[in-house]
Amino acid sequence: MKAVKFGGTSMSTAESISAVVRIIKNDPERRYIVVSAPGKAAGEDKITDMLVGVFKAAATERIRAFDAVRTRFDGICRGLNLPAGFLDGDYRNIVAALPTADYDYIVSRGEYLCAKLLAELLHFDFTDAADVIKFRGKTYDDGYTDSVCRIGLSAHKSAVIPGFYGSNEKNEVVAFSRGGSDISGAIVARAVNASVYENFTDVDGFMTCDPRIVPHATTIDVITYKELRELAYMGANVLHPESIFPVRKANIPIHILNTFNDKAVGTKIVPTEDFLNGKYERARKMPITAITGKKNFFSLYIDKSMMNAEVGFVRRVLSCFEQFGIAIEHVPSGIDSMTVVFSAVDEQTSNALLKAVRDEVKPDHMHLTKDVALIAIVGHGMVARPGTAARAINRLSNAGINLRMIDQGASEINIILGVSDTDFERALVALNGEFEV
Ligand code: ASP
Repeated sequence: MKAVKFGGTSMSTAESISAVVRIIKNDPERRYIVVSAPGKAAGEDKITDMLVGVFKAAATERIRAFDAVRTRFDGICRGLNLPAGFLDGDYRNIVAALPTADYDYIVSRGEYLCAKLLAELLHFDFTDAADVIKFRGKTYDDGYTDSVCRIGLSAHKSAVIPGFYGSNEKNEVVAFSRGGSDISGAIVARAVNASVYENFTDVDGFMTCDPRIVPHATTIDVITYKELRELAYMGANVLHPESIFPVRKANIPIHILNTFNDKAVGTKIVPTEDFLNGKYERARKMPITAITGKKNFFSLYIDKSMMNAEVGFVRRVLSCFEQFGIAIEHVPSGIDSMTVVFSAVDEQTSNALLKAVRDEVKPDHMHLTKDVALIAIVGHGMVARPGTAARAINRLSNAGINLRMIDQGASEINIILGVSDTDFERALVALNGEFEV
């Protein structure tokens, strides 16, 4: 049996919701459905953004601000021939709560109403996420949720569950971070022991490269959880990165599909071991699965003779970053030098950081480079295959692109290259040319 999540674009209009209903009815295995709130539609904002506006309005204005949300849902209900006034009872409860309600409650109402509406259309049970997804205070409680959700959903043959939120020990609604319905879908998939977690969105799947930069980029049919982690981290954000953890733990594959293109085969994200053991086949057998990247990093080069003999040197440098709460991306190092790559920070913070490092380790030289872009070449096919890094470097040098940094982890499924922000697009095109991903 399948757990299926539909994103905001899929739920944005009466037409798209009709497509969702068709998709679900096409396959009787699709029994547990998680939905986002309606997304953008012609001239209309995302419902969740409208609800953020309701929260921000003065307490006396909130009810009036909520009218626009209500009008949007009423329009969708009309388009789907749902009985007039079908959501009136829910609107009344929400309106009564609005003057004193907190952020999490208000922003979660889009998912709540949307799930009500879809459950009615499908004749599935409605299960409130507040009853099956549990937090302690504001922190998601995975262990408790798993048992509550298993028991809660086992009582329903089929159900629609709102994404994005749950509740805590005080029965307060608590929301995940934005885009969190992907997490809800993964939690539900694990709780019902789904054979697959289908995630319907508005793209055909993960691409081998950003198609805005490399127009002939293609959809990847199969990637592993490990590869996904690398890709998501480097900016390929089809899925909320945290969303993979519940299904990853349970070895359930995720299938990214497009609500608006039933011809697309989508991307299957599969357990790494299963892939390496040959359970899944990729249509194109390439050493490189994808090339992706992000701009806007800084890199701090530090050099000091005999650095390698100074015990605790790296730790002391990194402690300065910790002091400023700066997360570190990569730390390539030489014998007497090291580089720390991190996301761009403001002028004041970078000045203070440099001073702290200077005071702490007294380097011979130190140089901060701004506007660094990182490119990740990702793929299991690279493991134990000599020459991939050499080919990448050669290709960049032939294209006249200066390589500022190179880093390869021991897992060998990821080579990170640092280039200047202004060379980023050219470097992606050149690397794609080399590996023909
Ligand atoms: N509706 C929420 C958002 O816009 C959650 C989600 O769609 O996953 O962030």
